[in-house]
Amino acid sequence: MKAGFSKTWRALLSWPKPPGGTRYAACHFCDTLHEASPLEEGAAARCTRCGTVLYQNRVASLTRASACSLAALILMALAHVFPFLTMDAATLRKSLTLLGAAVALIDEGTPLLGISIVLFTIVAPFVLAGGMLYVSLPLMFGRLLPGSFTIAKWMHLSEPWNMVEVFLLGVLVSLLKLAQVADVTFGIGFWAFAGLMLCMAFAVAGIDREELWDRMEVARR
Ligand SMILES: [Zn+2]
Repeated sequence: MKAGFSKTWRALLSWPKPPGGTRYAACHFCDTLHEASPLEEGAAARCTRCGTVLYQNRVASLTRASACSLAALILMALAHVFPFLTMDAATLRKSLTLLGAAVALIDEGTPLLGISIVLFTIVAPFVLAGGMLYVSLPLMFGRLLPGSFTIAKWMHLSEPWNMVEVFLLGVLVSLLKLAQVADVTFGIGFWAFAGLMLCMAFAVAGIDREELWDRMEVARR
């Protein structure tokens, strides 16, 4: 019984072959066209000409993508609820949240910068992590939620606009200057944001795009 369940579960979790004719994958470096077929767990397909990895089936890909995107969403909530950093300068003490910083920038005459922070560090990461969870978690049970194809497209579109790490690096550089005039303490929001950066990277790297779309196509049928 146990073995049967385990076998069914593994079959459900393995990369299925979508119906239809032969599929092809082009090498990003040398443009060689290859026949693309589903891989065993842990295997990678390499270009026959230059050896570049074309696509791969990562171990426990759906579980990793779901778990990391869920963790990213939880950390995202914490990053917005708790102060990002606290500044002490003479008699002035100020705590700042991420959204508070964006609103302050808009109020102080740099709306473009404030809106960019909202778009690139709040909206794009939310679309990416939320979309990944929405698509990959039901796929673990061979299911697909309504609108998954549209959401997956938005998820891939938001990927280059997710600039959590760029923002974090910018904050660290500006803090080097700020630390000369005020005492700066990192809040829970900052550490949650740093954790969010790692979880986002692991979620995106958790599952190959080729595998995700094959699984979605099979689940739809
Ligand atoms: Zn190549």
